[in-house]
Order: sequence, then C-alpha cells, then structure tokens
Amino acid sequence: MRDAEPAGPEGATKVVVLGSHGGQQITQLTGSHLRCGTSVLIDAGGELIVVDCGCGAVHRLAEVGYDANQVTTVLVTHCHADHVAELGSMVSFAWSSGRNGADPDRRLEVWGPTGIADYEAGTKLALRRSIADQEGPLAQVPTFDAFATWHEVVPPREPVTIIDRPGLEVRTVRVQHGGMPSLGFRIVTDDLDLAISGDRGAGRDGFAAFASGADAIIHEVIDRPLVRGVLEAQGAAPSFVDHLVDDHTDAPDVGRVATEAGVPVLVLYHLIPANPGIDDQRWIDLVRPTFAGEIVVSRDLQVLDLQGAR
Ligand SMILES: [Zn+2]
Ligand SMILES: [Zn+2]
Repeated sequence: MRDAEPAGPEGATKVVVLGSHGGQQITQLTGSHLRCGTSVLIDAGGELIVVDCGCGAVHRLAEVGYDANQVTTVLVTHCHADHVAELGSMVSFAWSSGRNGADPDRRLEVWGPTGIADYEAGTKLALRRSIADQEGPLAQVPTFDAFATWHEVVPPREPVTIIDRPGLEVRTVRVQHGGMPSLGFRIVTDDLDLAISGDRGAGRDGFAAFASGADAIIHEVIDRPLVRGVLEAQGAAPSFVDHLVDDHTDAPDVGRVATEAGVPVLVLYHLIPANPGIDDQRWIDLVRPTFAGEIVVSRDLQVLDLQGAR
C-alpha cells in the first residue's frame, strides 16, 4: 500500500513507516530493495519526530510530503548502519533546507545511545568543507552547530524520560541487541501512546514491561528458521548468521512481547527478510499463535491508523 494520505481526524498524531526493511544487505534476497531502510515518522501536530534514518529515509520523508527542515527530533535506536545510514544526510538536509523560507529559529535535536557522539563527530568531519562553505561564503545561519543539538544517552536499565513538553513525552530504555548499545522508545502524544523496539533479541531485556499499556508496539521481526537456512546455504560467516538470528526477535516471540505488554495493535517493521515474495499473510501466520490482537505488516509510506484501537 502506497498511502501517503493522513489517517484519522485533522490534527491527530500521524505515524508513517518511511522504511520497513531491516539489515544491511539490501540485495541479499531478490527484490528486497523495494523497501527502504528502517525509519518511522511521527507527526504530532507539527512536532515531527523521526525514529532512525536508514537508507532512503530523506527521500521517503519528501515522498510523504515533508521537508527535512520540518523535523524537530530524531530518535536513534542504535548505530548499526541500517538505522543511521542517512542520519547525517537527514541532519544536514534539515539544516540546509532551512534556507527555503522556513522558520530561521527552527532547531533540531538528535537523541541516541552510546556511539551517537562518534557519529556526530564523524558527520561534522565528513561535511567539514561543505559546512565551512555554507557558513562562510554562503552565509547560512544558524550555524550547523547551533542548528542541531546531539544528545548521547547511556542505555538505562530502568526507563528514563528524555523529552517532556506539552504534547510530547519520550521515554527510553535499554534493549538487548548483542553488544550494541541500543534503545527502545515510548512516544506519548496527546492522542497516541506508542512503543518502538528498535533492534533486540527477545527475552533478555525489559522491553515488554516498558511497552505495557501502549496503544501499539512497532516491533522488529525476523523469520529465524528461514533466514538461518538461506544464509547458511549462501555460505555466510557463522558469526554473522548468529548475530542475525540471536540478536533479533523471531516472529512468534514478537507476538509474545505484544501479548505480555497487553497492546491491541502490533506493527511489524524492520522485516528480515524483506523479500516481497514473502507475503504479509506468512508473517501474520507466524505471529498469530502468540498474539490475538491486530497485526500490521508494514510497508514503506504506509500511514498507520493507530488511534482506531482507542
Ligand atoms: Zn537493524
Ligand atoms: Zn541492529
């Protein structure tokens, strides 16, 4: 479904899946390039939050009708490339497109786990000449540093609130994703309470309790038996196969998380594999035995109607 139309009443929080693909091997399975890398947009009455910036996120944002400069907050679950490949582009395009008649006082906040400060430093180094040219001869204001504020969070074992202002509260908690510092998020607006998993292996962290009572969970998913079989047949390195299958959540376990959290809606994203030959019903059949609520197999540019569960 390529549906870029707003769901729900005017002013309601809108959630759009910008990219639904998981992993860093876009061509690993034939046709998987039809999905972009992991990214979710939440439009909370003009507060524009982007969770992760995988490959294609900047263009997907434009496709759904927004300018990068409208983004007020970027939340990063972890620094694997399939989640941050376009983070630098998102921030720099947000900064640059501020020249196009947008509010000159607009600023951007980036929140991420341990490692995000390195990403910030690397981005500024990689873009050093561009930034210098824009701030110098091109006289762009505010400066890149003044425009974007980066916050690095050591993944907390107990939930902490990182944003608390009218219309938006964001809490975060550590999720277990191998050795990678990783965050899950709970995003609460005036009309929506949403939990997002990022990447995690099931059962070794407190995400289900963290997500308890939310209107919906957006959760990563892997078809463990299928992926292990395909990768082993391709001769993939055992350490890589183990990372994929151990540090992501098998479909039946995703259902268990949603059941334990007591949510009415479960949205699957970060699909591994993301082969279009695997139809939605296969994912639903894998999750259904462990979750009785609504299951949504997300697609790029899909607007999620999550208020309907209220
Ligand atoms: Zn990932
Ligand atoms: Zn990851």
